[in-house]
Amino acid sequence: MQADNSSANGDESPSGNPFQSLKEFHSAGRGFWRDVSDADWNDWRWQLKHRITNAGQLQRLMPTLTPEEFAGAKLANTRLALAITPYFFNLIDPADEHCPVRLQVIPRIEETHTASWEMSDPCGEDSHSPVPGLVHRYPDRVLFLVTDRCAAYCRYCTRSRLVSNATGYDFHPEFDKQIAYIAAHPEIRDVLLSGGDPLLLSDDKLENLLSRLRAIPHVEFLRIGSRIPTFLPQRITPELCAMLKKFHPLFMSIHSNHPRELTTEVRDALGRLADAGIPLGNQSVLLKHVNDDATVMKAHVQKLLMCRVKPYYIYQCDLISGSAHLRASVRKGLEIMEQLRGHTTGYAVPQYVIDAPGGGGKIPVNPEYVLSHNADRVVLRNYEGKIFEYPEAPDGTPLVKPPKEIEEPELV
Ligand code: SF4
Repeated sequence: MQADNSSANGDESPSGNPFQSLKEFHSAGRGFWRDVSDADWNDWRWQLKHRITNAGQLQRLMPTLTPEEFAGAKLANTRLALAITPYFFNLIDPADEHCPVRLQVIPRIEETHTASWEMSDPCGEDSHSPVPGLVHRYPDRVLFLVTDRCAAYCRYCTRSRLVSNATGYDFHPEFDKQIAYIAAHPEIRDVLLSGGDPLLLSDDKLENLLSRLRAIPHVEFLRIGSRIPTFLPQRITPELCAMLKKFHPLFMSIHSNHPRELTTEVRDALGRLADAGIPLGNQSVLLKHVNDDATVMKAHVQKLLMCRVKPYYIYQCDLISGSAHLRASVRKGLEIMEQLRGHTTGYAVPQYVIDAPGGGGKIPVNPEYVLSHNADRVVLRNYEGKIFEYPEAPDGTPLVKPPKEIEEPELV
């Protein structure tokens, strides 16, 4: 067991090293809820019931709310989705307007400012939806939207048009139709459950859905995309893990953006999932003032490995309406990738992608390591900027016969 520290906001490492400080594991603590019993605090349904969902609650708990935040929070549930679990709220530093956790979940009035190139459905999901709640954009896999609810709501959500129904999208998944479509399309070998957050379903409902999908012979592989391990680690119960392990191969993509989100509670929850044999990957969104910094991102990916999670993607923030104040530049994303590749464990290096606006799918974006390439050679640079040549093999060369001087080994 690694060292635990009592508070999520104790940023000063005993070593005074900011990088090491980011990598330390802390508990979120109890904060305003110190009188709540352990049984309630560790009950995911209690956490959901006591979420912060309006401007009044937010201001009571955090009098340091800025005018921009208060104006944004006042639009909760009419124009903007707002919910924060008590657990996750405790990770916010109320004294820091630029707290990387705060920026992810507290609305700001800037979310109502929309540029002409921003969209409500930036990945073109609705135009690739053959039945309600199913997106079939790639040849062999589908996105199965289970619910429009999440444990908490991210300010940059690609599906903000539908989550929490704050904008009147009127999302109604139809499981029978979604499953019938998959059953009728033998090319679909991979189903990704997402939403909203699939882990908000009860164990029984989720088990029923997974059983129906597993009963389709051509479905080889199931995935769950969930932010619950970071918003609500209490949901990752031993019972949930025991149920999920019946449906292997089942992978899970979690979502976290900053090392401060990786608390002792989250590490323990991820450990339970990993012990159930569920391979874990993380998806981060590159966000201004949150993780658009190589030191923060490096600490985050290393900390993910310590939680048994492979950093999987860094997404360039989609062109979602009202997200300009959170979007970092592609230039910054490339700089960060340059600082990761070669500078840390290969397993810790995610793929940086841009989800092509309008529905073109994920496109990998990488710093340039191939400097030139012709029929004879490839000229490459390594992570230190040193130049190397690799001789190109001619295409279509027949297999080379062993030289004559190599004798047959003697059989004994
Ligand atoms: S958890 Fe995922 S679906 Fe829910 S608000 Fe955040 S990004 Fe959107």
